[in-house]
Amino acid sequence: MMPSPDRQNRDQNDRGPMTPQGSPPGNNGHIQFNGTMILWIVMGVALLVWLIFAIWGSPSIGSSGTKISTSTFVNDVTTGKVCSVTIQDDTATGVLKTGTGSDPCVNGQKFNTVIATPNTDTATLLGQNHVPYDIKPSSSNSAGSVIGSILLNFAPILLLIGIIFWFSRRSSGTQQNLFSFGQSRARLYTSGKTRTTFADVAGVEEAKVDLEEIVDYLRTPERYQRLGGKIPHGMLLVGPPGTGKTLLAKAVAGEADVPFFSMSGSEFVEMLVGVGASRVRDLFEKAKKSAPCIVFIDELDAVGRQRGAGMGGGNDEREQTLNQILVEMDGFDPRQAIVVLAATNRPDVLDPALLRPGRFDRRVVVDRPDRAGRQAILAVHSRDLPMGDDVKLDIVARNTPGMVGADLANLCNEAALLAARRNLDKVDMQSFEDALDRIVIGAQRPLVLSEQERRITAFHEAGHAIVALMTPEADPVHKVTIVPRGQALGVTQFMPAEDRHNYSRGYLMARIAYGLGGRVAEETALGDVTTGAENDFQNVTNLVREMVTRWGMSKRVGPVFYGSDREVFLGREMSLGQQREFSEHMAGIIDEEVEQLIDERYQYVKNVLATNRHLLDAVAAALLERETIDSTELQAIVRQAASEQSVITGR
Ligand code: ADP
Ligand code: MG
Ligand code: ZN
Repeated sequence: MMPSPDRQNRDQNDRGPMTPQGSPPGNNGHIQFNGTMILWIVMGVALLVWLIFAIWGSPSIGSSGTKISTSTFVNDVTTGKVCSVTIQDDTATGVLKTGTGSDPCVNGQKFNTVIATPNTDTATLLGQNHVPYDIKPSSSNSAGSVIGSILLNFAPILLLIGIIFWFSRRSSGTQQNLFSFGQSRARLYTSGKTRTTFADVAGVEEAKVDLEEIVDYLRTPERYQRLGGKIPHGMLLVGPPGTGKTLLAKAVAGEADVPFFSMSGSEFVEMLVGVGASRVRDLFEKAKKSAPCIVFIDELDAVGRQRGAGMGGGNDEREQTLNQILVEMDGFDPRQAIVVLAATNRPDVLDPALLRPGRFDRRVVVDRPDRAGRQAILAVHSRDLPMGDDVKLDIVARNTPGMVGADLANLCNEAALLAARRNLDKVDMQSFEDALDRIVIGAQRPLVLSEQERRITAFHEAGHAIVALMTPEADPVHKVTIVPRGQALGVTQFMPAEDRHNYSRGYLMARIAYGLGGRVAEETALGDVTTGAENDFQNVTNLVREMVTRWGMSKRVGPVFYGSDREVFLGREMSLGQQREFSEHMAGIIDEEVEQLIDERYQYVKNVLATNRHLLDAVAAALLERETIDSTELQAIVRQAASEQSVITGR
């Protein structure tokens, strides 16, 4: 597996192939007001106003003088010790007749006290005792004070709301806020200016063909429903990271021109516990309202992992979310034109319930591109770049085996940046070569094979294919490729003619033969052998061992079962520590039989490849040229080579 190129390229995908250097748009000296700044300003002003009103805002009479108790005040009034009183709300201030001058009211002691409200009682009391008094309007009566008190009361609340708002914006990044956490964050793609179509996706023709059906269905659901057909509503895009699964899903939406709800699996399980399921519900609710439409769940494995797996009994939250997805998918009206697409690079970890018929029962494989595919992808990503005349994309494609779409997009971008740094007007071939060097060396991916390795691999895989082709009873070859994937440098895929439950000896012998074909081809064509056949040997040896010890297919050992009692599984390794229920002597015989059988097959394969040497060369050459050949191409090559051969030998 490659170190996920997915992540590093996702941004780039949104920005287009080349990011212009320089300042961000619009930032040319003027102050830009964005949402956050406005929020800050509002909050600042609110705080300021609040402070102003809190300090000077209420035009109150204040509380000057010594505080006295209400009873003292009443007593002072009735005993004639008070000169004058000013009343406002529940406060009375006044002066006592304690002045030392001629008039005791001058320089008299000031006091304040709390009185009962309404203050009419106090006024009556003052009137009865002939104390001059003055009632001031309530501090909350004037227009200014109304605003003041509102602000005074509400500013802290406003401030609090502002802070919560700001934090929730910050944590979710988008226009979302904290209060919509239970709703789905599905992004709705509609045909905008950045509409993605199938023209933007290259090198994955088979996947496109599969998806075109969906596009067609979404455009004209009536046509399909007329005959009562049910279109599959779950499709799983499967493939290594960076091969364009997300891109394809967007392209489907772009092509179909229907609403497209996109959400990543990880977004269901995020931030707040317990929202996953409700988000799913909400997402499908929205989708049902706008059918026909597409629901796209990216990175399905984030939420769709096998339930109950993992440490500590699994993740409750995730399981609920997954259950909700299953429920929603079952709840579709079959006539409702909703297609649920999902993408994953780990189909192996998905919960089997997700893959059941009626759910994600269709798989679209998005595989690593072959040479022609890479060239097409390079063409897509360089179409907006000014390209030099010397750029040969077919050469670039040839030099990038194992790279996926995201790598190639990155390569184009890198080449453009290098050319820009060199002040070139156009991106030239040198830029591409340097960019490739930089990426390959920088990432230290052993995936880009040397010419010699490619040659060996080509012969190896051609060997498997030719032996299979020339051996009766062997499985038909489906596809041969030297595009490296995972640990394998190349793969020959077979397509069993039908599902088999019972294997004949002849079939197994053929299978052993083509298993050995890779190594023998290396030996025949290149005169040397490599480590590349380890896996083949492992499979072959396991198979032969089972033939001898379980299936009674060796004369010397005879029809006796010498294995342990466990499920027979073709090609599976013997488990360690298995009890041996037979003698040392028999073990020796079994080993000899295994060895002998393999040896016999090896000689047979050598013979096949020696007589068909011209075919081996032709297929290997085709592989070096095209990297992937399917069964029809293979047959064409074989026919061609055979006819040439007969011309040469005059037969
Ligand atoms: P995945 O979802 O399979 O991991 P993406 O769809 O996110 O991969 O691909 C990342 C980027 O790589 C895309 O946005 C696109 O620029 C580029 N890319 C990947 N595959 C292809 C392709 N087949 N054709 C064109 N561009 C591709
Ligand atoms: Mg993706
Ligand atoms: Zn092999």
